[in-house]
Amino acid sequence: MRPALKSGLLPVWRDRDTLQIGIDPRRAIALAGMGQAVSVIGLLDGSRDREQVIAAASGQGIPVEATERVLTLLAAGGALDDFPASTLRAIPAPLRAKLAAELATTSLAHRDGDGGARALARRRAAIIRIEGDRRIGRAVARILSSSGVGQVQFVRAQTDCAAAGPPTAGTKARRAEPGGSAGRAEPAGSAGRAEPARVSRPAFVNQPDLVILIGRQPGELTMQLVRDRVPHLAVMAGEAIGIVGPLVVPGRTACLRCLDYVRAGNDPAWPLILAQIGRRRPEPPACDSVLAAMVAAQAAAQAMTAIEQAPTASPAANGTLELVLPDWRWRRRTWPRHPACPCAAHTVR
Ligand SMILES: [Zn+2]
Repeated sequence: MRPALKSGLLPVWRDRDTLQIGIDPRRAIALAGMGQAVSVIGLLDGSRDREQVIAAASGQGIPVEATERVLTLLAAGGALDDFPASTLRAIPAPLRAKLAAELATTSLAHRDGDGGARALARRRAAIIRIEGDRRIGRAVARILSSSGVGQVQFVRAQTDCAAAGPPTAGTKARRAEPGGSAGRAEPAGSAGRAEPARVSRPAFVNQPDLVILIGRQPGELTMQLVRDRVPHLAVMAGEAIGIVGPLVVPGRTACLRCLDYVRAGNDPAWPLILAQIGRRRPEPPACDSVLAAMVAAQAAAQAMTAIEQAPTASPAANGTLELVLPDWRWRRRTWPRHPACPCAAHTVR
């Protein structure tokens, strides 16, 4: 193991003998009695194993016990990463440099003791497919790619081309797929609605770990994902509301159709409304640049949680994260599975 000071923390002196690692009290730790041993800090860059750190410090006249004490205190305070040597070999230096900010953030946010190496490995191995609205979709793809996700595939929405009535202003009808604050798939047995003419999905070459669906998607496509057991995250932005979720883990959490069953239970008119909105959307959408960016960032964050931890670890599993402008706070809404939903047939026991 190769101890390294967490790179996102800056050492500062509190007094002549007390070194503080980090600035914000929610991250920082203070080490007293550091006057003599401070040069140990400079040795903690992940290039030496523990014994080499102790030997190098001894060479600078620092007793072994003092070095060990500093290492112990830093580790106990969560300010130290231990890079396994194998991790260093597995991540090429240029890639580590490129993703340094990602590693530093992950390491601090999740208190990972490996400098974010495990999280990065999971990102590198992940395939995430994005379908739907191009503006938000591309923003999500950019964030995921720059975060180190191995494969990000962006597929333009079927509805981008098949779109929604005669375009009135050039390409505008292709740009956005806003959708309202509710509803995507129609509940079985509800008033039928005309599906878009082109709903066929290209077969997956490699099955993605996660599909991000941006905008309202035809019910049969989302049910296909349920049947194929592909986790998927729904994302909507319109009517000045951003919604990220649910994150559907087929057979384990509420699916998009479950939500419509719940809505139909709350609002008897919902099936009729749903039947009218399959291919209609307001133009222009009420999704400005700020809302699009906030929704894209939240979607990317939940995708990353799903990849690094587990899909069910995201607060968007059995829930939606919602931002209703002009509020600045995301709020979570819980959505249970609905016993009448066909997804019950795919339950994982
Ligand atoms: Zn369901």
